[in-house]
Parts: sequence; structure tokens; C-alpha cells
Amino acid sequence: MPAIAYGPSGIPFSDYLNISIDKLYIMLDFNNTEIAFSAKSDGELQNAYRLFSVIGHPGLVKCAKVLTGVALKIHFPLSWAVKPTLYKQFVGGETLQDCVPIINHLQKFNVKTTLDYSAESEQTPDGIQATFEETIRSIDFAKDNPNLAYAVFKPSTITTDEILAKASERPNEMTADDRFHFNAFRERFMALCTRAYDNNVRVLVDAEDYCFQEAIDRLTDEAMRLFNKKRAIVFATLQMYRHDRMPYLRRILDDATANGYIAGVKFVRGAYMEAERERATRMGYPDPICPTKQATDENFDAAVRFTVEHLDRFEMFMGTHNEESNYKLARLLDERGIARGDSRVFFAQLLGMSDNISFNLAREGYNVTKYVPYASVRDVLPYLLRRAEENTSVAGQTGRELRMLKIEIARRRKA
Ligand SMILES: Cc1cc2nc3c(=O)[nH]c(=O)nc-3n(C[C@H](O)[C@H](O)[C@H](O)COP(=O)(O)OP(=O)(O)OC[C@H]3O[C@@H](n4cnc5c(N)ncnc54)[C@H](O)[C@@H]3O)c2cc1C
Repeated sequence: MPAIAYGPSGIPFSDYLNISIDKLYIMLDFNNTEIAFSAKSDGELQNAYRLFSVIGHPGLVKCAKVLTGVALKIHFPLSWAVKPTLYKQFVGGETLQDCVPIINHLQKFNVKTTLDYSAESEQTPDGIQATFEETIRSIDFAKDNPNLAYAVFKPSTITTDEILAKASERPNEMTADDRFHFNAFRERFMALCTRAYDNNVRVLVDAEDYCFQEAIDRLTDEAMRLFNKKRAIVFATLQMYRHDRMPYLRRILDDATANGYIAGVKFVRGAYMEAERERATRMGYPDPICPTKQATDENFDAAVRFTVEHLDRFEMFMGTHNEESNYKLARLLDERGIARGDSRVFFAQLLGMSDNISFNLAREGYNVTKYVPYASVRDVLPYLLRRAEENTSVAGQTGRELRMLKIEIARRRKA
């Protein structure tokens, strides 16, 4: 039986046959601040406004980064400053259990959660083991919980940077000791995917630095072949700022077709552009990043379109705060008669960012999930500083958040 496609407000698409797609899109409005911030109390709105006003100043963020580094080194307590501000805006809590209220709250607005254990502790054997065990717990926590859309892990948190870089860039130089450590990493990686498979939970493998990614891709491809026979369980992340990702996506499709599995793909633009360019220049290899923002955008659009066109072999997760990308995918689904609630396609944003996109999409019946990081204040600080920096450096992001918050605060006052 063909899937029923739903239009705005859950009305079957067939009822809109005499309305043009363009007219329908007037109804998906990311500027609707009432819906965007429906999950936030007045106090939370004011907090968010103050926070984005501060992190909009690059100088302040740089200063905070230096001070935080010093404070961490001398074990100076930071909770009092971080918890009511950055942590409150961007983090779900310290433990899985702490995140239950936010999971339930998001679900009231039809937004699902993806819990992300974001501790970036030192890559010591104890730290690695602790992260591995917590990730297993997060996969168990997602079992049979319809409010949790995916589990996720960052491969570099279950091994060391040295091993990932060597296995990716100089595998011929690996010593017996390196191979021993790489095999231990591989076992942890596969154990997480096995647990996800046993629990029927989809698991996203985050993408990282270019110099680590080759080894991560190899393991992810192998895991997809093993665990994605009936449905996509393991998802590879493709950073579309890399100009070699379209060929990789085509190879994934060929492999999935040849080996009879459903490929899971997560698309992002990529978070490490400046560092990648700097490293490529320093080490003397070609820049792996698209030459311009427009080229990245086109690459991103091409990958999303290609995947939607081959949805018989893919499930996809699109993580972006770019309004145009979200509009484009929403429109593409409707144009192709793919149901907005089709579980093969998810839109995603980070907790505390771009609520105007998440809540308006969810309201119109699309599948939406928020990445909800959790960890202790100390462990999650690198993640928080990246968010602060991202909001400073991603052109327009902070300005947009502030503009939206201001409109909503004024609207509520008037109401
Ligand atoms: C749910 C979710 C999960 C994520 N997971 C990951 C992950 O696993 N790995 C990861 O690396 N990132 C991840 N990110 C971050 C993501 O890669 C982006 O850094 C971030 O979302 C900003 O991109 P955008 O599409 O939201 O916004 P936009 O503002 O449209 O795009 C900004 C991005 O465009 C690219 N860009 C900017 N200027 C240029 C230029 N001059 N030339 C070429 N490209 C340029 C860069 O990638 C930059 O980050 C995730 C984001 C979300 C929302």
C-alpha cells in the first residue's frame, strides 16, 4: 500500500491537490516565534536572550575560553557560572535520568530526542572505558523508548587521536602495539553497534577530523553491512564541506545495493573547517574542504537530493541550522509524495539552537529530533565552548537567534 503523504497540520496531501506546492510552503514558516518558543517559559526566553547577547561578542568568548582552560587546570570550580547559563541552554543534564524532563517536554511538541554523551575527557584507558560504558547505557536507555529517535557516539572518545590518525593516514607504519590498540577500538566500536542492533536502536557515528575519518568510515561501512540488513541501524556521517563526499555517498549506495542492506546516512556541513585548512597547509596536502561556502551548500543539497531519490536503499538524518536546507528537504519530501512522518527521514538541530526550525517543522508533521548533550559540567565544557564559538563564528546565527527571541519577548508582553 502506498504511504499517505501529509500536508501542513497533518491534512492528507491528497486534499491539497488543487493547491500548488508554493502555496503550501507559505504555511511552513520558520519566522513563527510563537511556535518556535512554545516550549520556553518567559524566564527561559530572557535567559536565552542574555546568553546569546554575550556569546555574540567574539572577544568575550575568546576570553572565556582562556579563563576556562586555566580554571580547569587548577581545578577551580566553574559550576556556579556555567550551570545557570551555557549549560542550561545547551545541555540536558548530568545523567541519562536527568534528561527525562527535557525528553518529555520536547515530546509534547512532537520533537524527539537524541541523547549525546558529550564528555570529552582525557583519552586515558580509564576515560575511554568509562565513555564506552556510558554510551552502552545510552543505547540501552533508548530501547523501546519512542521519544528517543537515535543513539550516538563520537569515535575519538573510545580510542586515542594517535591511533585514529595513524590507522587513517599511515596504516603501513602501525606497530604491533598500535594494531593491538586499534583492534581494541574496533571491538568497542562493533560492541556499540551490536548493542544498538540487539536493542533495535538506530545509532549515529559522528564525523570528526579529516585525519581520523578514513578509519572511522571503514568501520562504519563494515558495521552497516553487518547490522543494516533489515533496516538502517548504523548511520555514517558525511561532512559535506568535504569535496570527496559525493563519490563516497555513491560508493555507499553501490555497496548497499550489492550487499543487500539499507544504508544509514547523516548529513552535516562539517564543524572543523578552519582547523582542517590550517592542517592541510601545515602538512602540505590538498585542502579537503570545498573552496567556498556556496560550493559546500551545493554539495550538501546534492547529497540530500540524491539520498531522497534513492530512499529505497537509504535512511537519512539531516543535521543543520540552515533554514534554506530545511525548507528544501521539506519541500522535496512533499513534492515526491513522501509522508512527512516517514521514519526514514529526520531533521535535526542541537538543543538550544534554531528552535524556530525544529518546532515549526515538528508542528507541520515532519520528523524532528534535537541532539541533547549530557555530561557533568566539567566534562561537557569543551562541547559548550565549541557551541559558544560556533555561535560567534557562524555568520548570522546569533543575530537570528537574538532577533527571534526579541520578537517573541515583545509578542508575549503585548499578549
Ligand atoms: C544535529 C547535528 C549534528 C551534528 N553532528 C556533527 C558531526 O557529527 N560532525 C561534524 O563535523 N559536525 C556536526 N555538526 C555541526 C555541523 O557540521 C555544522 O558545523 C553546523 O551545523 C553549522 O552548519 P549549518 O549547516 O548548520 O549552517 P550554515 O551556517 O549554513 O553552514 C556553516 C558551515 O558551512 C561550512 N562553511 C562555512 N564557510 C565556508 C567556506 N568559506 N568554504 C567552505 N565551507 C564553508 C562549514 O561547514 C560551516 O560550519 C552537527 C550539527 C547538528 C545540527
